[in-house]
Amino acid sequence: MSLIVQKYGGTSLSNVERIINVAERVINKYNEGNKVVVVASAMGDTTNKLIKKMYKVTNDPEPREADMLLTTGEQVSIALLTMAIQDKGYPAISLTGSQAKIKTDDEHNQAIIKDIENKRIIEELNKDKIVVIAGFQGINSSEDFTTLGRGGSDTTTIALMASLEADRCEIYSDVDGIYNTDPNIVPQAKKLDYIFYEEMLELSSLGAEVLHPRAVELAKNYGLKLYIASSFNNNPGTIVRGVEKMEKKKKVTGVASDRNVVKITIKKVPDQPGVAGEIFTDLSNQNINIDMIIQNLQYNNLNDISFTIDKSDLKETKKMIFKIARKMNSKGVEIDEKVSKVSIVGAGMISTPGIAAKMFKVLGNAGINIQMITKSEIKISCIIDGDETEKAVKTIHNSFTFE
Ligand code: ADP
Ligand code: ASP
Ligand code: MG
Repeated sequence: MSLIVQKYGGTSLSNVERIINVAERVINKYNEGNKVVVVASAMGDTTNKLIKKMYKVTNDPEPREADMLLTTGEQVSIALLTMAIQDKGYPAISLTGSQAKIKTDDEHNQAIIKDIENKRIIEELNKDKIVVIAGFQGINSSEDFTTLGRGGSDTTTIALMASLEADRCEIYSDVDGIYNTDPNIVPQAKKLDYIFYEEMLELSSLGAEVLHPRAVELAKNYGLKLYIASSFNNNPGTIVRGVEKMEKKKKVTGVASDRNVVKITIKKVPDQPGVAGEIFTDLSNQNINIDMIIQNLQYNNLNDISFTIDKSDLKETKKMIFKIARKMNSKGVEIDEKVSKVSIVGAGMISTPGIAAKMFKVLGNAGINIQMITKSEIKISCIIDGDETEKAVKTIHNSFTFE
């Protein structure tokens, strides 16, 4: 008998018919003689709708209350899914994050799972029940509800898999696997049979929302193989796993894009030692994550310093950036919300010269201006005009062979 942890995302549960379809798929696994734990996301775009409502009430929601609100989405789906399973004559029970004792730190809206006291889950499994658990949520040391960041149900799933030492983990969404780029942008994108943790981690962090980056990190740390497939068909999916000995690595595995990027420029900062250190210390003290940084020498010993942040940090950044700019005697701040980041990822890039040059040339030939660049061993990212995102992804996808 195997223990399987399955996760169904919002699109897979977006209406009652789809919930019943998921119930049938779960029951099929159960009837094959497996113990089944199911992680469910909120129905469809429920979380987005709750966030919209919240901002109609206040511009500055208290993080604890935001979590109180957002956890309701998953509670609706676990109840309905459990009822749908029971209605077909099978034993099932729903558990919220707090009932499942998913313990997190105190960082509301972005909490990290510390531990899962899985006694209750195991008890219910031993009663031969299908256990349906709310994704994306947990409780902190004060027993307040927390959430794990957008897309966090994937992370709940992997944490449960590790805690329960499950034999298999299956993540079901509206795509039937990981593609070499978002198939909703490039219909000719190719599905991968497998992808290495390191590559998936980069793709997820660089905007491929198909898996939550923290989930990939956990899977990598525990060496857990993941199977990504669709809840709408039985097509073979993609396995996310580690590199096997001497295995060939692709130069380029995938292309990702991210529009949740903002570029900020502090203009004409005096060119003196310590200036950059001071700016970025002030920002990091407020937990603002800086991604790319570029410094351009202008004239008369003045520099423009540009950097990028995630859109979710813009409000906090705005609160302090003008003050910092004044302190530096700069000539003002420019905030560009209309940029995006396109990236290529490949574990074999490290041993292949010329990949970056090719990416820049391809973008150049398409008339797309590159504003900023970063490169690490297995990825290259460029900041471009947000309106050119789709064109850039398509052009890059068509120019590389993914071998
Ligand atoms: P769920 O709601 O099930 O968690 P998500 O919407 O979070 O699903 O993730 C699935 C989406 O991820 C797909 O619809 C697709 O548009 C997007 N996506 C981005 N990059 C990729 C990729 N490389 N392969 C597959 N899907 C991708
Ligand atoms: N419902 C949450 C979200 O939309 C979590 C998830 O779907 O993984 O972000
Ligand atoms: Mg998701």
